[in-house]
Amino acid sequence: MAERLIPRPNTEALLDEITELIDDINTFVVRAQKDLSAVQPVRIGTIILYLNYHSQRKPTCFGCPHLDWRKTNMIGDKPHQKLSMTVIKGNPVKAVNTKGELAVVQHDVRELISNILKQTKDKSEYTAELGHLSRLISARKKTPELKQRLNVRERGRILKELIIERMHEIDSMLDSYSATIKRMQANDARIYAELKFESCGKSCDFCRHPKWYVQKKVPGSNGRYTREEKESPLPSLPRNTDDPEQMEDLREVIGRARDLIDERKKFQSRITLLSRKFSGRFQVVEND
Ligand SMILES: [Zn+2]
Ligand SMILES: [Zn+2]
Repeated sequence: MAERLIPRPNTEALLDEITELIDDINTFVVRAQKDLSAVQPVRIGTIILYLNYHSQRKPTCFGCPHLDWRKTNMIGDKPHQKLSMTVIKGNPVKAVNTKGELAVVQHDVRELISNILKQTKDKSEYTAELGHLSRLISARKKTPELKQRLNVRERGRILKELIIERMHEIDSMLDSYSATIKRMQANDARIYAELKFESCGKSCDFCRHPKWYVQKKVPGSNGRYTREEKESPLPSLPRNTDDPEQMEDLREVIGRARDLIDERKKFQSRITLLSRKFSGRFQVVEND
């Protein structure tokens, strides 16, 4: 029977909603690009928007399509015959032609451009984080799933599954490291390390949180120990023991567990950041 994945309802809903929003923004941009061409006659100074898509070489991009603003210019001395394009550097709103035949449509053009810029700015807040998350996943394992040419919703669904799966893997491995660490140390050791998992009591996708503790025997106390939480238990462990090889093995296992905890923290902070950016946006909408 397949192992049941630990549900992460907040992360799942967040990624679904964000990729849905990105998809909506993309649909808007494609439509606005058409409106922009429709509203302006082609003259010198017409603003043209090209939409660029990354090729397979950059499969982790969640930001496609990217905006490429151009303006028509004349070639040679016969302007009615040939027009060329130049790239607009800086804000395209400022490049809008205010003279001649284009003057009539300048307000519509400015409004369209501003809307496109506003929406894609919102989008970039999220796509950058999704890019970080997918690189975090592909740094640890091969992810041919993410290399396919897919729309953003599909890609978001795959990324979500990969994150949930990887988080589950990390937690299972940490559980097993915790047991190994316990087993590798004598019950009556003077100092020993523990990897524990604790709930934070909030409705949190990252419970239970791994924590390191160091237990130290209080001298002359008849087996009483003090317990202290540590960022890492390694500096507290004795250098000289009866079994140096066993101690080396223990340090290595703790090191591997710490790497996993680091990775787990990266997921947690990226997802928290994404959620903060996203909720911020919704507060604005709700207050309208
Ligand atoms: Zn792209
Ligand atoms: Zn928690």
